[in-house]
Order: sequence, then C-alpha cells, then structure tokens
Amino acid sequence: MSTLKAVRGTRDLLPPETALWNRIEATARAVFARYNFGEIRTPVFEDTGLFARSVGEETDIVSKEMYTWEDRARAQSEKTQSLTLRPENTAGVVRAYIEHGLGESGLLQKLYYIGPQFRRERPQKGRYRQFSQIGAEVIGPPSSGSESPLRDAEVLEMLATLLDELGITGWTLELNSVGSTADRARYNDTLRAALAPVVGQMCVDCQRRAVTNPLRVLDCKVPADQPIIETLPVIADSLDDASKAHFAAVLAALDAASVPYTRNHRLVRGLDYYTRTTFEFTHGGLGAQNALLGGGRYDGLSEAIGGPKAPGIGFAMGEDRLVLTLQALEAPQPLVADAFIAPLGENLNAAALVLARELRHQGLWIELGEGSFRLKKSFEAANKTAHTIVILGEDELQSGILTVKTFATGIQTKVPRAELAVFLSKPAGE
Ligand code: AMP
Repeated sequence: MSTLKAVRGTRDLLPPETALWNRIEATARAVFARYNFGEIRTPVFEDTGLFARSVGEETDIVSKEMYTWEDRARAQSEKTQSLTLRPENTAGVVRAYIEHGLGESGLLQKLYYIGPQFRRERPQKGRYRQFSQIGAEVIGPPSSGSESPLRDAEVLEMLATLLDELGITGWTLELNSVGSTADRARYNDTLRAALAPVVGQMCVDCQRRAVTNPLRVLDCKVPADQPIIETLPVIADSLDDASKAHFAAVLAALDAASVPYTRNHRLVRGLDYYTRTTFEFTHGGLGAQNALLGGGRYDGLSEAIGGPKAPGIGFAMGEDRLVLTLQALEAPQPLVADAFIAPLGENLNAAALVLARELRHQGLWIELGEGSFRLKKSFEAANKTAHTIVILGEDELQSGILTVKTFATGIQTKVPRAELAVFLSKPAGE
C-alpha cells in the first residue's frame, strides 16, 4: 500500500513556522482591536447558492474552482442540498449579517475573520487549494455612514498600519474604482464595442468573456493579449459624477494620512460583487503570485443575496503569502527554550517535573529531560533545544543549589533554587 500524503495543494504547517503564523494572527488581532473590529467565525461550508449569487457565476472561482457536493438527504422526503467549502469569506459574513439582523442596530458593523478557504486552483508557490485568509468587513445600513469614502480610507490606512506592524516593508497599494452597477454596465458596453473588432486575435477565454462579462478581459494574464488590452478604454472614463467624487474623496483622505498608493485602471478583481473602490496590496518578493491582499467596496452585495440595503467594504489577506514574505525578509527563528532540566537518574524524574512546573509557572519556557539519559546525551539534547541546561542531581535537590550551564558563554554556575527563574530569564551572557 502506498503511504498516504497530504492532498495536492494542501500542506502541514509545522513548528517553528507555526510560531510565525501565530505572530501574524496576534498582530492582526491587536491592530483590528485598536480599530474597534470584533471577530466573526462563520461555517467552513455553506449552501452553494450563496457563492453563485455573491461571487458571481461567471468568475473563475464559481465556474471552476469550488469544492461542491450534494449532501445526502436524511429522509426520502427531504431534498439533497448542494454544499460548498467556502472559497472566500465575505459572502458568509454578509449572509450572517442578514441572518442575525446585524443592521437593525443602525450601527456600522466592523467584523474580522481568520480562517481556511478552499479553491481548486493549480497549486504553485503562494497558491494552494487550502489557504488561510485574514479579512475584515465594514458593513451597515446607509444611515450608519457605511457608504462614506472615509470608511474606504480608514480600511486602507488600517491595512498600511497592519503591514508595517507585521514588518512587511516594500509593499505597494494599487487602487481603482469600478464605479456603481450602472457605471459598470455602461463600461461593459463600451468594452464590448471596443473588443468586437479585436477579440478574434485574443485567447479563447477572452473571446468567451467578451460576450459574457467583458470586464473580466482586463484580468487576462496571457502575454500575447496584453498589447490589445493596453489599448482598451479605461473604466475611469465611464464613472458618473457621484462615483468620481467618491473616489476623489478616498484619494484625498489617503493623501491626508500619508498612505502611498498608485492607481491601476485594470484592477477589476476576480469577484463580481465589487463596486466603486477596489484595491490590492502587492509585494515584489512574492514572484508571480504577488498579491498580498485584495478587497473593495460591495454596496449591492447584501441585496444580491436577499438582504436589506447594506453597503460595505472589506478585504482578504492571504496569510500564506504574508508568511512567505516575512520568511524572505527575516532569518527563521528556531524555537529555543530558556532551560533544559536534566535529572541525573530516573529516581529524580518526579523532582525534575516539580522544578519544571515551578519555572513554567513563572513564565519560563522549559524543556524537561529524562533521568535515564546519560549526562552526555542530556547535554546534546539541551544544546539543540535550550539556552541553558539545569542539572538536577541528588546533591542539588538536597542543597537547593543547582548547576546551570549557559551554552552561549560556556560558563557553568551554581544558582540557588529561589533565584533560578530570575537567572534563567536574563538573556545569555549577562
Ligand atoms: P481574493 O479572495 O481572490 O480577493 O484573494 C485575496 C487574497 O487571498 C489574495 O491577494 C491572496 O493573497 C490570497 N489568496 C487567494 N487565493 C489564494 C490561494 N489559492 N492560495 C493562497 N493565497 C490565496
């Protein structure tokens, strides 16, 4: 029988890398808290119809990347239900917003999530079939100010702060406005007309998109199509005055807060629900999959899935890509305990557990050795896992004076048990 492996496109995350994941999540939670966001956790699978109606039938995600199955009926009278592993989390958050009547308070809802998403994409570096997103949504009835360009600017400023606090230097913010639904419809017509004479020279996907959803042509990555795409009209020229003024106000607020950005007329994003502001933060260190995060405004999404009018704006960051970026920027941090406790004989194992408990209660990271080990083996294990070794023999136990060796300096000292925690918490060499 062949050995079982993690499924293609999925990965095991192991220590010490998981420490980096935890640090990213802790930083994100701390920043979100300062901006007064609360956490939401929605189910990992939802009714398939939710994604078809929100993300869009024509998108790559819905048309070819979802993990969908027919859930068995429990009784003959019951219908089967089509379920899907969530490919993104905004649809689930908006569904929950509607289901729990979160808009009824009249207040702006500011929600963040951290969790796995699933897309059947071709796996490569930075692109997986199970990946994790850290995202947030600001949504509420129009009376809560949810449509204001200030909200867009605040979310973007928060993202700049979060990336800076994570230690991700050298990011670029690309911004565009895809206008209102009416603007987009107008632009789609303009694009369709502009594409008609040239689309025959483009890839088959573009030929299909030119008919079904011309906006998606701008996402095309086929090199031969790029010169044609460059000549197409830009969406900025199809925006009405209200959309133009909204976008101008977002840019003015970003300028005031000194958040740097560049405008990208082709940034229409892969999900159909976006309106007005769309954005992406990219990082040069990531190679082909260079998007760290993406997001935008989705003023009509709640209504599209049967809810009340609830404009909103949100984003999703690829946590896997944050990890890759940070790994390229910093040396890996091995997990090293403050001390390794080496009992000299199995009869001292229980005493060693008590000493470890004492030190751990004082906040130290302790690796517990094993009394059946020879001292040489304890030293070898300690050297790989801890900054110091604490030797616990019969003499040490009786006298309460422990022998401690600090590996960085090679110095061996006697330390009274009562002073041990303070001694071990000092950085090596002090
Ligand atoms: P989207 O939900 O498509 O707007 O994507 C938002 C962010 O999620 C992207 O900028 C990526 O950082 C990340 N992301 C999307 N798809 C994947 C994937 N298959 N693997 C890893 N990260 C992804």
